[in-house]
Amino acid sequence: MNRVRTAMIIGGGIAGPVTACALRRAGIEATVYEAYADLAPGDASGGALGIAPNGLDALRVIGAEEAVCAIGQPTTDMVFENGRGRRLGSAAGLPGLPPTRTVLRADLHRVLREHARDHDIRTEHGRRLVGVREEPDGVTAEFADGSTATADIVIGADGIRSTVRTLIDPAAPAPEYVGLLGFGVGASIPGDGAARPAPGAMHFAFGKRAFFGYWTHSDGSVALFSNLPHPPMTTAEARAVPAERWLGLLREAHAGDVPAEAVLRAASADDLLVAGPLELMPPLPHWHRDRLVLVGDSAHAPSASSGQGASLAMESGIQLARCLRDLPDPTAAFAAYEAMRRPRVEKIAAAAAKTNNSKAAGPLAKAVMALLMPIMTRTVLTPEKMFGEAQRHHIDWSAPAAA
Ligand SMILES: Cc1cc2nc3c(=O)[nH]c(=O)nc-3n(C[C@H](O)[C@H](O)[C@H](O)COP(=O)(O)OP(=O)(O)OC[C@H]3O[C@@H](n4cnc5c(N)ncnc54)[C@H](O)[C@@H]3O)c2cc1C
Repeated sequence: MNRVRTAMIIGGGIAGPVTACALRRAGIEATVYEAYADLAPGDASGGALGIAPNGLDALRVIGAEEAVCAIGQPTTDMVFENGRGRRLGSAAGLPGLPPTRTVLRADLHRVLREHARDHDIRTEHGRRLVGVREEPDGVTAEFADGSTATADIVIGADGIRSTVRTLIDPAAPAPEYVGLLGFGVGASIPGDGAARPAPGAMHFAFGKRAFFGYWTHSDGSVALFSNLPHPPMTTAEARAVPAERWLGLLREAHAGDVPAEAVLRAASADDLLVAGPLELMPPLPHWHRDRLVLVGDSAHAPSASSGQGASLAMESGIQLARCLRDLPDPTAAFAAYEAMRRPRVEKIAAAAAKTNNSKAAGPLAKAVMALLMPIMTRTVLTPEKMFGEAQRHHIDWSAPAAA
């Protein structure tokens, strides 16, 4: 195959615009095709996510770090607690690295899309990929509206339910449910605000019946997320349940939890975000085939517990562009990209799977954890050991990618 000059990126979420900007820096013209007319429903409906230092490092390559930091709240400390608010341990940010930025999803999408647009990248909305026709000198994408487009390669940045993944390998594994449903809610706690966490701290708490996290928003309200153990359910099924009913179940699950109980009491059904099932992608046998390749959640969704999905998606987009810049044969570039990325993302996903198990642990396991964690965070579970390898990752854009 000849050197890649043009690329179609399927998906305008996080990996899509970042990959497009990096490809442009690598001298490859990219167009983004997004299924929805605007934001995908889960992205438009609120919710927040953390961009870790390694994600900020990746954004620096495309010149978007500053814009993302400007919309993000610095998270300087992580605090681990039991449900009653007793501190089990804490982890400060790693020395020499910028703090993780907590951003609203809708803001992040807006900033990334504006950044891509300002770098002359075209995004076509309302274009849902349904198939491809592979030809000797290129690939034609077929969209649900009957339209087509042609380029040298197709990059699947189309998320955890990727169509491109199935086009690469119809037998590819599906995402796996980790046994927890995700919810988000924000509310002002009435009273003197004593229960309000200090700004900059992100709290993670092993509640009696459900894991939860919370932090103070810049407007003084408390944002809470809950991971509720639940039988499998699709996002559509979860969102079809009236919010009032979920709020009732969450209030029951978090009765006695500090400050989850107070936040949920103060919240109304309109404040509730139903994020849906927490899932991870099992290791994929194939990340690429011929002129098709995957980037982001389509290849390696590590589950929300890693706090790394978006950051890894950004890293992968940049590294794919670097490989395509330096290795003229796309098959060699895709293979080098996969070899570079696979060990890292699979290690982070495996660690997150363990976290998922601890979130869904029974009362005995939780009691043991509460006993051990204070000792462990002072000895073996140092911030460097917990996050160093993931967060200290640096992309040297000027270094040539090796085959
Ligand atoms: C509850 C929850 C909390 C999370 N918290 C964090 C966190 O704190 N930190 C973190 O780093 N990560 C977090 N994540 C993970 C993070 O959201 C994902 O890893 C990240 O969004 C992946 O980006 P992506 O671009 O690969 O996929 P997505 O963001 O899912 O984007 C995919 C895009 O492709 C589009 N698309 C899909 N199919 C097609 C098609 N056929 N044709 C055209 N377009 C298509 C979609 O509409 C969408 O816009 C969390 C996830 C969840 C569910």
